[in-house]
Amino acid sequence: MNVSPQTFILFSLGADLILCAVLVFLWWRHSDEKHAIAWAAGQLAMTAGTAVWYLGPQDWPRYALASATLTVSVAGYWAGTEFFLGTLKRRHVRLGALVFLLFGCIVYAACAGRSSWLLEITASVYGLTFLWIGYRLASNRNHYRLLGLILVARGMFNLANALDLVPLVIEAWFIWSFLVKAGSLLCLIHAVQEKVQKRYTRAIDSLSKGFIVYDGDGIIRSANERSAALLGCAKAKQLIGTHMADWVTGISRGQVAAHFQRFAAAAHYPHVETMVITGADGRQLPVELIASRHYERGRLHCMLLVMDITERKANDDRLYRAAHYDNVTGLLNRHGLSLRLAGALSAARASGHACAVLFIDIDKFKRVNDCFGHAAGDQLLGQMAQLLRGGLGEADLLARFGGDEFIVVLPALPRNAAADMAAARGQQILRALGDGFQLSPQLITVSASIGVACFPADGDDGDTLVRHADIAMHDVKKTGRGELRFFDPAMSAYAREALVIDGALRGAIQAGELHLVYQPITHAASGRMGKVEALLRWRSGTLGVVGPDRFIPVAEDSGLIIELGAWVLAEACSQLARWRDSLPELVVSINVSARQLLDPAFIGLVERALSANALAPRRLELELTERVLIGDGAQVRVALGRLRELGVSISLDDFGTGYSSLSYLTQFQINTLKIDRSFVTGMVDSARSHALVATIVAMGHSLGLELVAEGVETADQARALEAMGCHHLQGYHISRPVDAQALLAFAGTRRGQAVMPSYPS
Ligand code: C2E
Ligand code: MG
Ligand code: MG
Repeated sequence: MNVSPQTFILFSLGADLILCAVLVFLWWRHSDEKHAIAWAAGQLAMTAGTAVWYLGPQDWPRYALASATLTVSVAGYWAGTEFFLGTLKRRHVRLGALVFLLFGCIVYAACAGRSSWLLEITASVYGLTFLWIGYRLASNRNHYRLLGLILVARGMFNLANALDLVPLVIEAWFIWSFLVKAGSLLCLIHAVQEKVQKRYTRAIDSLSKGFIVYDGDGIIRSANERSAALLGCAKAKQLIGTHMADWVTGISRGQVAAHFQRFAAAAHYPHVETMVITGADGRQLPVELIASRHYERGRLHCMLLVMDITERKANDDRLYRAAHYDNVTGLLNRHGLSLRLAGALSAARASGHACAVLFIDIDKFKRVNDCFGHAAGDQLLGQMAQLLRGGLGEADLLARFGGDEFIVVLPALPRNAAADMAAARGQQILRALGDGFQLSPQLITVSASIGVACFPADGDDGDTLVRHADIAMHDVKKTGRGELRFFDPAMSAYAREALVIDGALRGAIQAGELHLVYQPITHAASGRMGKVEALLRWRSGTLGVVGPDRFIPVAEDSGLIIELGAWVLAEACSQLARWRDSLPELVVSINVSARQLLDPAFIGLVERALSANALAPRRLELELTERVLIGDGAQVRVALGRLRELGVSISLDDFGTGYSSLSYLTQFQINTLKIDRSFVTGMVDSARSHALVATIVAMGHSLGLELVAEGVETADQARALEAMGCHHLQGYHISRPVDAQALLAFAGTRRGQAVMPSYPS
């Protein structure tokens, strides 16, 4: 076949144009790929230059056009390559434009009218340009070596042409020229295309999160390396075309389809779900799946970001634990309990069962901390938690409510047996405590007070039940310790009143609402008043007159008794000083609570009150109840010892109502016994009370104690007591508690009485 050179040229120009059009198209689709348009411009200029040579008229515009196309072509290839390699800067473009303009002018000036020069210069410039570009691409650390080598070959061919080294067999020349040109252009197109692709895959591969696109059939269409790692697969490529369920153990195709349906029907995107997946390597992984809509060929696909949330979950778990569990014992804390208790109650409500809440408080826990340190205290709490856990049923709840308070909840109890079962569990706990705790190196025994409230009888919600169990527990503490008591609505009324009283009492001293009254204690035989008991009175601005039986226990609970007691001590001593002239030998007896006696500042207060009023210590007597003595034996003994050293006398109040243990009397160096009113009241009518009082009096005598009978209301009682040998009498029969003024008047009536006549009743 005989093909003319023009046909070859036209064929070559046509191919050039098609390939250039592809480059322009790629640039149009991906406008960021500027090297595509630069290369296309370079190649188009080169094609135009060829057309100029072979098709144009042979005059000066042809030289100008040829010079211009050469310049644009070299500039285009240069700019495209630099941009492709990422080394093109804005200033380079401006400088390049100037250099190339100059270059074009020089070429035109040198070659105008000399077509052979221009041809050779053009071939040489192209040759050098392609050699240089080929070298840049092949030597740079990228995988466009083939493109580089083809361009080097193209450059060498052009140079060989310029130097007339190519044997001119026109078909071979054209075929070779066409091949290198077409090859280099195809490689350039591939470079542009691949760079776009690479940028996309590099971007998703560089994500620290897994990226998966799967279609409505669950088939993975795209995935990055991170997702492969998360699913325990070696290469992302292996995932493509497989089913999601093939990689996630324990997740069926149906579950994948359900996920797709949830995602497709979601109202908002991204649609987020968390789950624990087991990868192909068997590793369990908590993940968050963030799904967005993605369309490929018109079909909805699910584009998933798969985030490994192991750390976040561990943090969440840690926060959850901190919010719901106590870190010393590992038990539920108050918040955790309230959530679980609410659940238990609604279950009990639905099933018609009862629940019992046991509020357990370790008695005198503070002493453990004080004596053995806080580490030992924590150790004790841990052992207590273990002890309580021991008796626990599967559904039972156990919580540390605060400090030394624990709560056991027995859910789902039969309604008619709930109280018995709660009592049995409580008693079991109290018994177990008897074994003691080994706090290395010593074994210590503590008791606990337990209050119980039952659902639905004592409350309908968790807060109320816990509050009521707490009130019942405090009721135990008030009257002793180490017992279990059920909530009674009367306790609640007391607790409410206590709250009101406590609030009002706090400002009572400053508001001047307190005063003292004095009740005479007279000598049974002579009727003379040797002693008075100072009794506190409170006329509250808001509550009116409040009796000491109501506010003293509240002040003892809250600790306010220390402040009140200090005021009573100071006031009683200063009153005694004011009576110095009229009642020089009078002894004042004041009531002292346990907390006051154990307050380290108490002895100093007594000393100061005496010295400030120039009173002999024997003129002060302190009344303690038996409950004070059974408290902290060692500390009480020390405090009483120091008071006795000071010369202050101690009297045991309300004797007979508490433990009535004779050992207290000898142990604590008591001076006086005050026989409780309850025995005195009954002694005339009840032989038993009479016998009891007689026994106490006889015992007092044998121990060398002074005896005072409280609550003497009748002459018969007074007579009987005197006959028994009781030394002193106190009661309404002698006098009610009166103010300081009235007391002086009373003293006046008793001054001359040497022998006790029959008391007026
Ligand atoms: P208490 O120490 O046993 O005081 C005697 C209580 O019996 C006084 O009640 C007194 O008014 C009352 N009483 C005296 N004689 C008779 C009588 O013949 N018949 C009857 N029915 N009652 C009689 P008050 O003043 O209401 O005091 C009650 C308790 O309050 C006191 O019992 C004492 O334990 C406590 N209290 C009073 N003042 C103080 C105080 O300043 N400090 C402390 N810690 N406790 C105080
Ligand atoms: Mg008293
Ligand atoms: Mg008393």
